Amino acid sequence: MTDTMTTQTTPATRRARALEIVRGFGAELGHHIGGAAMESAGDAHDVLEPATGETLGRVRDATREELDKAVAAAKRAFPAWAALPGERRKELLHRVADLIEARAEEIAAVECLDAGQCWRFMAKAAVRGAENFRFFADQAPAARDGKALPSPEHLNFTTRQPIGPVGVITPWNTPFMLSTWKIAPALAAGCTVVHKPAEWSPYSARLLVEIANEAELPAGVFNSVNGLGETTGRRLTEHPDIKAIAFVGDTSTGTAIMRQGAETLKRVHFELGGKNPVIVFDDADLERALDAAIFMIYSLNGQRCTSSSRLLVQRSIYDRFVEQVAARAKALKVGDPFDPATEVGPLIHPHHRDKVRSYMGVAEAEGARIAAGGAAIDGPGHFFRPTLIADAHGAMRIAQEEIFGPVLTAIPFDDEADAIRIANDVRYGLAAYLWTSDIGRALRVSNALEAGMVWINSENVRHLPTPFGGVKASGIGRDGGDWSFDFYMETKNVALAHGSHKISRMGV
Ligand code: NAD
Repeated sequence: MTDTMTTQTTPATRRARALEIVRGFGAELGHHIGGAAMESAGDAHDVLEPATGETLGRVRDATREELDKAVAAAKRAFPAWAALPGERRKELLHRVADLIEARAEEIAAVECLDAGQCWRFMAKAAVRGAENFRFFADQAPAARDGKALPSPEHLNFTTRQPIGPVGVITPWNTPFMLSTWKIAPALAAGCTVVHKPAEWSPYSARLLVEIANEAELPAGVFNSVNGLGETTGRRLTEHPDIKAIAFVGDTSTGTAIMRQGAETLKRVHFELGGKNPVIVFDDADLERALDAAIFMIYSLNGQRCTSSSRLLVQRSIYDRFVEQVAARAKALKVGDPFDPATEVGPLIHPHHRDKVRSYMGVAEAEGARIAAGGAAIDGPGHFFRPTLIADAHGAMRIAQEEIFGPVLTAIPFDDEADAIRIANDVRYGLAAYLWTSDIGRALRVSNALEAGMVWINSENVRHLPTPFGGVKASGIGRDGGDWSFDFYMETKNVALAHGSHKISRMGV
């Protein structure tokens, strides 16, 4: 993995700064509604620092009344925000991007503190948050443009209009970047937003609130409510004045949200779980494939939706390749997330670490071999060793279920057809990675893979105009480019009669 450190500060000073920021928010994090902070009367929940296990503070649930206030603020702000010329929204959102860039190191440090993600990746992710705002800001002026579809009798033309106030619900794994990926296009489209960040890593969302205020987004355009999914999240998804829910998280939560939103016919966009294959054929550039396989499972502590958590290797090279992966996994530097040399940090929460650990017993019971790692690290914090489970087969639970930690499951395959069969034989279909030097094979296999995104001879590299999303249990809808605007807008067709056709006369 490559070092992306951008600063001369030390890990200790970064952590001290992050703690200072978090403490500055107060012992209990309430909400931000209609341009002002709001204390909450809801139940409180601890937020832990993954690297130490210590309590950083508490978040409070939004009571029904508080949630109603947040939605009312978004509803009040909607007409004026939607009516603002796209050029003006563009200007304001670029201002948000400028401020994110200016505070990128603070944002990255807060992500290290409460999400346990490593500095080397978060320093980049914070900047990507600014890029998300810039990209969608630039699209704002033309986002409503439509098509002319003339017919013999009419000039038909389409326009797009923002759908209304929307709810954005995000997970804990890379909280800031993921939030901006949803919030920026919603605001650029002219929607107002009520954001609910994850309860285990809520602090960087508060930085986004500060930035939105400083950028002088009108009050009520961007609101943030805290709390658990079952309380605050549920209330948001059920609210009749919220027109759409953009959700990133677990597949089972997506199912719950669909049910909760059914009564109010909520439009939903889901980015859900994955069990993504990296398929290595024996004709591949094996050095590069090895680097990419390591990067895609162990970076972000394996807590990444697009992680390549299943390694499918052609049988002729399987033993040697797996041995190399095991050696590399054992050599990864696990430790302080603030240290730019650290490659793997702690898992988010003791519950999550216990879930990841439970799969080690499952692997052994299923007859697979733990070739690297396989255990939590003693001492404070929720650390888990980078793990390789070898000699698995596709039907095993460790090959079927999303573990969402630094755990890679290796499976041998015989030929192209076998690789495709194993790759597709899971409920998920988010991303797939394919390594081969045969172009024909690359096209055949990528065509057959059940995945929303396929990378050939590459790790996951995002290009913002391209569509991002999954099939099967990995999601509904696409983000990126114009796809995001399709979600946050309604398309209207206007048919203007030429006047030359005969109007049907009834009742004469
Ligand atoms: P999660 O589903 O438990 O929580 C995500 C968010 O949903 C949180 O804010 C949570 O409070 C909220 N929530 C929970 N229950 C809810 C309910 N009933 N109603 C409304 N909101 C509710 O997911 P997580 O554990 O925070 O994140 C990990 C999951 O996210 C993994 O499955 C991962 O693959 C997925 N993920 C997907 C993508 C993607 O782009 N496809 C990106 C990142 C993470």
